[in-house]
Amino acid sequence: MNSNNKIIIAIDGFSSTGKSTIAKALAQKIGYRYVDTGAMYRAVTLYAMSHNMVAPDGMVNTEDLVAALPGISIGFGIMPDGTQHTLLNGEDVEEHIRRMDVSSKVSYVAAIPEVRHALVKMQQGYGVEKGIVMDGRDIGTTVFPDAELKIFMTASAETRAQRRLKELVEKGQATSFEEVLANVVHRDHIDQTREESPLRRADDALDLDNSTMTREEQNEWLLQRYRETVARVNNKAI
Ligand code: C5P
Repeated sequence: MNSNNKIIIAIDGFSSTGKSTIAKALAQKIGYRYVDTGAMYRAVTLYAMSHNMVAPDGMVNTEDLVAALPGISIGFGIMPDGTQHTLLNGEDVEEHIRRMDVSSKVSYVAAIPEVRHALVKMQQGYGVEKGIVMDGRDIGTTVFPDAELKIFMTASAETRAQRRLKELVEKGQATSFEEVLANVVHRDHIDQTREESPLRRADDALDLDNSTMTREEQNEWLLQRYRETVARVNNKAI
């Protein structure tokens, strides 16, 4: 156990399973830092799109993007209301990276090995002091294979698309259920079949299928798993 008695919590799973919602709630409750790695891949995608490096069919100009990587800085800023916003080269891009135009291209950019290597390195840097809740697709398998607590989230594609549609509509972003469902299924497919650190359940992950669970039930379930893990890790350290 590390000296500050904190652990690393890795939450992976399919698109729109609500990973970030429960990850954020847990981090806030236990005073840990929350890192949304999907936002990092989205920010790089927005950069590539705004520099004309992504064709409409998703083909990425990999050479130019890889050359630009050292000049792309991604950070997180805490807003006065306590929410966390993603910054791309210092600019608040939180709203834009959640739009469908970015969602429809992000999995192509996230499949590029050099992009993954750069972002994984940054993500590992965030975990040096532990005390972190990180969500994504490869956190328990690649970023922190030794994380003390790993969760793998699933829910049916229809349930996930319905939730995502509700979020987008609430933000005033017009789209249809069919479009959101197609995007969710398509991203899952690319994420699972890419060569470099594909979306995969870590062997030692705990499953959470939240298709029929309320947000409160999920939060409570995760808090219990956290408490059990801390007790287990502390016992081992004695
Ligand atoms: O989590 P979110 O849906 O915002 O992630 C957007 C996309 O970023 C995913 O569909 C996936 O292609 C990519 N991603 C990834 N590895 C992560 C996090 C996200 O490949 N750790």
